[in-house]
Amino acid sequence: MPEGSRLLMERARGLMPGGVSSPARSFRAVAVEPIVAARAQGSHLWDADGRQYIDYLLAFGPLILGHAHPQVVAAVQEAAARGTAYGLTHELEVELASLIREALPSLELVRFVNSGTEATMSALRLARAYTGRHKVVKFEGCYHGHADGLLARAGSGVATLGLPDSPGVPPSYAAETIVLPYNDLAALSRAFDQQGEQIAAVIVEPVAANMGVVPPEPGFLEGLRQVTQRYGVLLVFDEVVTGFRLCYGGAQTVYGVVPDLTCLGKVIGGGLPVGAYGGRRDVMEMVAPLGPVYQAGTLAGNPLAMAAGVATLRLLREEGAYRRLEELSARLESGLAATLAELGVPGTVQRVGSLLTLFFVSGPVRDYASARGADTGRFARFFAAMLEQGVLLPPSQFEAWFLSLAHSQEDVEATLAAARRALAGL
Ligand code: PMP
Repeated sequence: MPEGSRLLMERARGLMPGGVSSPARSFRAVAVEPIVAARAQGSHLWDADGRQYIDYLLAFGPLILGHAHPQVVAAVQEAAARGTAYGLTHELEVELASLIREALPSLELVRFVNSGTEATMSALRLARAYTGRHKVVKFEGCYHGHADGLLARAGSGVATLGLPDSPGVPPSYAAETIVLPYNDLAALSRAFDQQGEQIAAVIVEPVAANMGVVPPEPGFLEGLRQVTQRYGVLLVFDEVVTGFRLCYGGAQTVYGVVPDLTCLGKVIGGGLPVGAYGGRRDVMEMVAPLGPVYQAGTLAGNPLAMAAGVATLRLLREEGAYRRLEELSARLESGLAATLAELGVPGTVQRVGSLLTLFFVSGPVRDYASARGADTGRFARFFAAMLEQGVLLPPSQFEAWFLSLAHSQEDVEATLAAARRALAGL
């Protein structure tokens, strides 16, 4: 018999802060006892009590093929047998870099790191070095990992736990971050009028996914591109979520706006720890050993992670992959929206590709302020009712649901039936 979620969680809490290695896993925002994972396959996850769930948490985004895809598992096993780390360049790493550049030509040179946090942190160090300026613009509700200075009004777990910033970040450092509302070009213009000459970079989630899913309004990304160009500021797209999630490429492919630097993570690692940053050759040539900007990693470009990434991208490149994801996701969106309307529950479903959020607030959500208007108590009850029926959602109103190619039409129909019962009982 497995020890069971409750007992394992009790042990975990005695050993790790909150019993977790990352805060959202504590389910604190939904006031539900967290489940403990035992195994996962395809669109399903089983907890330590043997209960089965249709999984839309999907490890917060990397598993676009679903859990334990046989070709990804085989690639990782094969790589492991040939050595788990070298401290040297190797073929799978070159192959993944080449697949990335082919799909995202703006990454003329790419550097692998171990997480999205490292990617954004390193990209901003590079932007500061390149421009000789210190300030960085970010947008309210966008999350770019937990590096000092980027935790200013970040979404994701920071939004969920209601922490405005984090203690431990020196105020002098946080003061280098200018926080502006998402989708608001007028506010951007004002900030640039006042401080444009001091700004090194604008970093943005080109589709926001960490205050729930909030698409860029027409003209927003183009406006960012124009203003940054005018002031000699680098535009950094944080495509850690959107890279290879929206299409075989990124949000930059979908919206046709080309950034100077791009951060990647999640999907390009196929479920293993990977991040990457890359972009314009003249900027990337400042990274050591070509240039003076130091950034390194013992396990960066790890062969197991590269193998999972290569296997994942090769499968995504196959004809029809993103069309199938789009069809499934559109069905989930329209089914949820119809049920909300029919039951008269105030809510909005926002979706871009296979990223989706059901906001418990009427009307479109276009920025952090409107996202914060959502009824988080109602989301918590909905989450609990879905979990009870075997559907695992991300445990926060402010996270995206992720679909995968392993999700079936039956999964989506079962989810819609569960959602109908959950919403009727709220
Ligand atoms: N950027 C974005 C847009 C993210 O969503 C995340 C993580 N959810 C990160 C950066 C940080 O990535 P990691 O958790 O791998 O450090």
